[in-house]
Amino acid sequence: MVKGYEVVIGLEVHAELNTDSKIYCSCKNQFGLEVNSQVCPICMGMPGTLPTLNKKVVDYAIRMGHALNCSINRVCKQDRKNYFYPDLPKAYQISQAEVPLCENGYVDILVDGEERRIGVTRIHIEEDAGKLLHSDKFDGVSLVDLNRCGVPLIEIVSEPDMRSSKEAHVYLETLKSILQYLGICDCKMQEGSIRCDVNVSVHKPGEPMGTRSEMKNVNSFSAAVRGIDYEVERQISVLEAGGTIVQETRRWDDVKGISTSMRSKEDAQDYRYFPEPDLLTIVVEQERVDELKATIPELPNIKILRYVKEFGLNIKDATFIAESVELAGFFDACMAKGRFGAKCYTTWILGELVKFMNETGKTLADTKLTPENLTDLAEVIENKTISNAGGKKVFAVILNEDKPVAEIIKEQGLAQVSDDSVLEKIADEVLAANEKSVNDYKGGKTNALGYLVGQCMKASKGKANPGKMKEIILKKIGE
Ligand SMILES: [Zn+2]
Repeated sequence: MVKGYEVVIGLEVHAELNTDSKIYCSCKNQFGLEVNSQVCPICMGMPGTLPTLNKKVVDYAIRMGHALNCSINRVCKQDRKNYFYPDLPKAYQISQAEVPLCENGYVDILVDGEERRIGVTRIHIEEDAGKLLHSDKFDGVSLVDLNRCGVPLIEIVSEPDMRSSKEAHVYLETLKSILQYLGICDCKMQEGSIRCDVNVSVHKPGEPMGTRSEMKNVNSFSAAVRGIDYEVERQISVLEAGGTIVQETRRWDDVKGISTSMRSKEDAQDYRYFPEPDLLTIVVEQERVDELKATIPELPNIKILRYVKEFGLNIKDATFIAESVELAGFFDACMAKGRFGAKCYTTWILGELVKFMNETGKTLADTKLTPENLTDLAEVIENKTISNAGGKKVFAVILNEDKPVAEIIKEQGLAQVSDDSVLEKIADEVLAANEKSVNDYKGGKTNALGYLVGQCMKASKGKANPGKMKEIILKKIGE
């Protein structure tokens, strides 16, 4: 609720699929190559050419459909969406109109600790358009790069089930990590791999839904949040001033932080969809649909819930680990050992490991860390063979070297001394040299004890078992 109004949000997310080649020709599907170098007569829309559907695109879209609990339309067609724009040489985009490949799904997300189910209306396949470039070298003209023409996209349309910009943000993050888990989109926002259109309306509780506006040109998740918040405020202030909301398409300007009207419903474009005559009907065997379903791993949104419920992780930590395919796989393998609790592993993963990855720019795969050697390390800390500080030293080594934990402890001389006679000798020396502190302690200054233990640890070069050391000092001072 914002100022007594209920907010209703629906999102249309476009994700570029990372297939090797484009959707209807064999041109390379790769970002950042020389302008107009990845083009052929088909994706340039030359008359007389015929498209051939890339089967991988169908596979990828069906996998996303499974991940979002959709029903799969095994028989569907492709349609032409007609409009004129300089980046669209054919003057139509091949998409899917009435019957999408996947529909009627949902995704469960976690917002502020509460589970929310967001409906997914449909997922369809379509081709991307080219890109207009504006350069100072060619003042007053725009140049066209057709490399992106025919790059495969899936469009994921949600139900208007989101009630705040925060929910929309979590939904977008969830879709992004699912796409990454499936490995079907590189999710590089800065390269435009994921883009979204936002539909927003507001109404008073109990009243019918308000008129919605659609916002285009939203290129990042944070822009989506800002755009939604702006639009909600704008609509409420229009309504509070006695005005009405008109159905329209608006353009979000992220630099200025405002949206402006592009066109109203009256001059909305009529795309005159009609069936694409140059492509066959898509027919997918049930067997193939089932095969693709079997390739879906446990997805990040499901993992987050499991980590919270089963392992007692807080949502922040659970989300951080689950949204990384790599970290989640590692953590799951550690937990599968059944030796230590989640806290033991997350402390290392979210502490030293993430610190190392941030500092070096390396990934987990670049290290020599395994669930086995990390468990070995936890073991020697638990049985007090080495101290926590010594543990950090061992950890730093196993990140870079494939060496048994026991060998590292030996090489670095990290084993703690628990032998009473050795510890007693150290204590005697330290107590003799620190008579003042001993008297302070006896006089009631209890913090002198910490100082004495510290001196003993120093004398042992950090190798004394601190718990045992304390015991021995107490015994001696008491004598
Ligand atoms: Zn081509």
